[in-house]
Amino acid sequence: MDLNSMYLDELRELFKSNGEKSFRGTQLFTFLHDKRRVDVLNSNLSLEALDIIKNKKITKTEIYKIFESNLDDTKKMLFKLEDDNLIEGVLMKYKFGYSQCVSTQVGCKMGCSFCASTKEGIIRDLKASEMLGQVYAVENKFDIKVGNIILMGSGEPLDNLDEVLRFIKILHDEKGQNLSYRNITISTCGLADGIRKLADEKLPISLAISLHQTNDKDRSKIMPINKKYNLKSLKEALLYYQNKLNNRITFEYTLIDGQNNTDKNVKELKEFTRGLKAHINLIPLNPIEEFNEKRPSSKKIEDFKKKLEKENMNVTIRRELGQDISASCGQLRRRVKR
Ligand code: SF4
Repeated sequence: MDLNSMYLDELRELFKSNGEKSFRGTQLFTFLHDKRRVDVLNSNLSLEALDIIKNKKITKTEIYKIFESNLDDTKKMLFKLEDDNLIEGVLMKYKFGYSQCVSTQVGCKMGCSFCASTKEGIIRDLKASEMLGQVYAVENKFDIKVGNIILMGSGEPLDNLDEVLRFIKILHDEKGQNLSYRNITISTCGLADGIRKLADEKLPISLAISLHQTNDKDRSKIMPINKKYNLKSLKEALLYYQNKLNNRITFEYTLIDGQNNTDKNVKELKEFTRGLKAHINLIPLNPIEEFNEKRPSSKKIEDFKKKLEKENMNVTIRRELGQDISASCGQLRRRVKR
């Protein structure tokens, strides 16, 4: 494993088991994750400590291109990995600080029909160090502290759960970025088994579910994962999750004109969320070339929101940032590669 994917305890043990003081592990962890540096030869590690890690790997992740919005402070980025694969990220500025959308895989195998990230399938999982590298590269480049992390870039986080857990726990470590779990959101297309595993970790992170349809027949058409984990099994997993953590769950709901904004959808959505502490986040569709559907008009979006609210559901409409640099998840990478 590369050194920048290792937990503090693992680094301390690495030095201890090689006859060095374990505090060298703390020094290295702090250098990598608090100072966000990879040039260990310039750290305060002793020559003996450096000798222990001389054949170990430290993975580097670089910003390859930045696309800046002229409408707001949103920046979309391509990161270059050591094997030359490109992944995407977004940095958004809100009143309360910076939020960064992080990728967890190169490509994705989930096949959601509205998503550009999955059009070439999955290439590989990211290591924890490569997820951390996205955050640190942005913080170093813009000299900022990112206060919120959303795992909603390319990839399905629960399909790479071990590395994602490493990423989250290292970010949370007080000797690293010391980021509160509450400021980290995992967004999943609904891998019920992964949701249960995540629940067993009992980390008070935020969970978001890409729902987008309210019945199995229609959801399976746009999200193939629904054939494996249908809405019933998804709901069971969410009840299990809420039983362990009692956190509110956000449902991401991309509005596709005429497809999922009908009265039938209102009724089904109410039924699906019954018994869950749910928040519905409506997202007007951001069309991609490969998905030939339209977003509803602003009036239809407002109407749908009102109908859900009338049924006592907690609803917001996602504010759209960086619209001029378009590129919802996966589009930039595909465009640059062409
Ligand atoms: S929406 Fe998420 S889970 Fe679905 S294909 Fe895209 S990246 Fe994968």
